Amino acid sequence: MDYKNLSKRLHRAGEFVPKGAILADIGSDHAYLPAYLVMNKQISSAIAGEVVDGPYLSAKNLVAELNLSSMIDVRKGDGLAVLTPLDAVTAISICGMGGALIRDILDRGFHGGNLTGKETLILQPNIGEPTLRTWLVNHAYEIVKEDIIRENEKTYEIIVAEKREQIVPLSEKELLFGPKLLEQQGSVFLNKWEHECHQFENILKQLEKSNKDVAKKIAEVQTKIQLVKEVLA
Ligand code: SAM
Repeated sequence: MDYKNLSKRLHRAGEFVPKGAILADIGSDHAYLPAYLVMNKQISSAIAGEVVDGPYLSAKNLVAELNLSSMIDVRKGDGLAVLTPLDAVTAISICGMGGALIRDILDRGFHGGNLTGKETLILQPNIGEPTLRTWLVNHAYEIVKEDIIRENEKTYEIIVAEKREQIVPLSEKELLFGPKLLEQQGSVFLNKWEHECHQFENILKQLEKSNKDVAKKIAEVQTKIQLVKEVLA
């Protein structure tokens, strides 16, 4: 992958960034996503945030190489702490991390005042999607779009969310599967959940053999199996 040839995963995430946005790409690594979007005139400018030295320097180097320093500002720091109100960011992308890590970045931004609610969030968790959806609904973010893609034998979900005054809470089923993905139900989605169902059944068998007190865990896994079977039926 490079800035000209994004992975299918990042390319799809980029398609959800509103045209003309001022984008903050957090955990930007090489800054491939903002570089691609600026080069293709899909956004007006970007901030690439990175907390680790190596990726931060890679991002700095790429932006300098491409002469994009006036369009992409590479900043070192933790999550949304790299942003100030003057940035007037209109979209935030956080891709390629676990859902719990993305949730924690959003939560620190929410409490630290760096997440204003005016930004469209484009989130691509590698795992832990329900954890992230739970944070979003608890903070009145409506999930407006979702997609699921398959690349290199892995499945990735993309969640786009916008802040509202109030939202309708999601059911347990919607938190697990994704409200929009549940409506769409494409082949990638169905294959993922067939696979997950087998995984849950194996976990259940192991738990049933355990001599520890796992009754609560068993009930949780049974609920998940039931929900998946309802969806796949
Ligand atoms: N976003 C790119 C993508 O999707 O291909 C890179 C994903 S890479 C696996 C995750 C990046 O997030 C790493 O470069 C890591 O240093 C960065 N990261 C992790 N926690 C972070 C945080 N709290 N703030 C900023 N960057 C973070």
